[in-house]
Amino acid sequence: MAKVVVLGGGYAGMRAIKVLIDKAPKDTQLVLISNTRVHTEKTNIHEVAAGTTTPKEISFDVAEVAKPQRVKFIQDTVTGIDLDSKEVKLQDSDEPVSYDYVIIALGFRSETFGIKGAEENALPLTTLDEASAVAEHIENQIKHYQDSQDPNDLKVVVCGAGFTGIELLGELIHSTKKWAQKYNTPNVELYCVEAATSILPMFDHGLADFAVDYLKRNGVQFVLGAKISGVEPGKVVYEKDDETQEVASNSIVWTVGVSGSHVMDDPAFSSKRGRVITKDDLSLNDDHPEVFVVGDVAAIMNPANNRPWPTTAQVALKSAAHAAENVANLVSGGSATPFEFHSLGTVASLGRTQAIGEVAMGGKQVKLKGYPASALKKVIVDRSLFYDNGVSGILKHGRFDIWH
Ligand SMILES: Cc1cc2nc3c(=O)[nH]c(=O)nc-3n(C[C@H](O)[C@H](O)[C@H](O)COP(=O)(O)OP(=O)(O)OC[C@H]3O[C@@H](n4cnc5c(N)ncnc54)[C@H](O)[C@@H]3O)c2cc1C
Repeated sequence: MAKVVVLGGGYAGMRAIKVLIDKAPKDTQLVLISNTRVHTEKTNIHEVAAGTTTPKEISFDVAEVAKPQRVKFIQDTVTGIDLDSKEVKLQDSDEPVSYDYVIIALGFRSETFGIKGAEENALPLTTLDEASAVAEHIENQIKHYQDSQDPNDLKVVVCGAGFTGIELLGELIHSTKKWAQKYNTPNVELYCVEAATSILPMFDHGLADFAVDYLKRNGVQFVLGAKISGVEPGKVVYEKDDETQEVASNSIVWTVGVSGSHVMDDPAFSSKRGRVITKDDLSLNDDHPEVFVVGDVAAIMNPANNRPWPTTAQVALKSAAHAAENVANLVSGGSATPFEFHSLGTVASLGRTQAIGEVAMGGKQVKLKGYPASALKKVIVDRSLFYDNGVSGILKHGRFDIWH
């Protein structure tokens, strides 16, 4: 009887478990290890960070997919993987967990790129707890203004204008207005500081310009071409136009970048920024055909341009499904096949009713902006829920507001 261990209960880990339940021989022993019992729809944590969605709305008990009668769930933090002895080391247990096959899906962490003070003085946004902490912090600063009259309590600086930063700003334009009303303060100022001279590099200029115009009209101030050199208590310092400049704020959120899990820093994985270049069947290398790496810890190469696919939930879900099918085949005495990825497109939300997107429809790339793109984003979320949780998941968490 083969033992398959999946590490991480995110998009990739949950999809891998789901496919293994469906496709692995029934006597295969399935184990899921994750540091939390809760699967978080991380594509929506910016909404929790802005206080427009509650943590409950984007959280599921992993047991909804990893049914206890079929999957042994271990809640613990993976500290290492011994590739030679085929064992997973855990933080809270002296007993390592052995495997015949392992699917590593440990996801992403915040990356500071060594920028001084970023870790200490800016709020990261990679987990549900961090997202809740961001919302609590911003609301508290606005509330605090009543006593302090400090204008920096009414400023939020988002560092980074990638997907996370822009989606967060799209939500903050709504929630900061509500908080200002609630605590009877003047308007809250929103800033976005970004090293590049444009935002959302994955979209074409027309769509990115639509996003900038929309956010600017709603009060967001962009500081582009600003290379952040440090974060100090209450201010972000940056280099722009050959000068050192700064923007002061008592709420600084860090969305500059992410890298793969610390576990992948072990030299045995030869990772770069926590990401491992996989073989085309998603296994680690020729020496370890029993180890598969998927989701944000994987650098899965696109043969068309010899660059890794971007780390997205879409790639995480599809790579995990393929790796799990390969493992199911290997357990059954078959072989692993190469992974092929065809992007369905990308949609970035700018708040509840606005978004931009480029999606594949009828063999063509179609550009969408405004409300239609926003409606599509919600359908994408619902489709992901449907596969992992069935109709009950959609009824509990699905966003039917698109139909109203
Ligand atoms: C605000 C935001 C918006 C985004 N929007 C989009 C979007 O619109 N579309 C899109 O495609 N992508 C989007 N992404 C990216 C997407 O969320 C990630 O690509 C995706 O979450 C990766 O899935 P994963 O399963 O590899 O990792 P994760 O979702 O990070 O899951 C990793 C899992 O492993 C667990 N874990 C981590 N470390 C350990 C450990 N040491 N031991 C045990 N368990 C551990 C975690 O708790 C978690 O359950 C967004 C990301 C953010 C932050």
